[in-house]
Amino acid sequence: MRKSEYSISNSTIKEEGILIKIKQKYRIITILSLAIIGFAGYYFWYYRTIDIQEVPVIARMQDKRFSGKVIAIQPMGEIEKTHIDSISRLFKELYDIETKVLPVIPIPKKTFMEDRKQYSAGLLNDYLAGQRKNYFKLMGVIDEDMAVPAHAYLFGLASLSRDVFVVSLTRLRESYYHRKENSKLFRSRLYKITMHEYGHTFGLSHCLSTGTCLMRFIGSVRDLDYSDCGFCWVCCQRIRLP
Ligand SMILES: [Zn+2]
Ligand SMILES: [Zn+2]
Repeated sequence: MRKSEYSISNSTIKEEGILIKIKQKYRIITILSLAIIGFAGYYFWYYRTIDIQEVPVIARMQDKRFSGKVIAIQPMGEIEKTHIDSISRLFKELYDIETKVLPVIPIPKKTFMEDRKQYSAGLLNDYLAGQRKNYFKLMGVIDEDMAVPAHAYLFGLASLSRDVFVVSLTRLRESYYHRKENSKLFRSRLYKITMHEYGHTFGLSHCLSTGTCLMRFIGSVRDLDYSDCGFCWVCCQRIRLP
């Protein structure tokens, strides 16, 4: 009797051992699957590359107050025309605003900071402010590195009270960071920084929300990729205030 009890309990122990092994196997498979799904989700969520047609309605600032207005785009220095065309398309399709591309001019020499070997974004905006005339906004575009005294570099800078802003293409490229070029990511960054600086010209300061609003401070290219393609509800309301 004792022997059979012993043999029963022995086989039970064996079965339990197999069950534990199977459970462990499934646990590992489950953890691995979750990790893979999580990583893939994070990757696609983190790199929110956008194209105009993918921008949700909330990000579109189509407003009757802006109808008939013209945004002038001033390319400065050597710039590929396709990038300027992309910006024109952005304003037309997203905001229903006409753009006028001004003839390319050399980057004003006085805006170059010899000591830092960068262009001064503040001085570029000063220059643009003197050229704005009756344009609704004047956007400057350069393909050189730029900065302000307080920052090592900038992707863009807006002058809140003068309706001008400038964007630099240099650090939007993956190749700048010694990574493989990605034209979609570049275009997405160009759209985002243009919309961010454009938002500033409506008096929007940096958004303090904890979300991914496009008006949050952008300190690195990762911030730019992380940010959403539109403004949060609070920023939208602030723009629409009479
Ligand atoms: Zn900003
Ligand atoms: Zn916001």
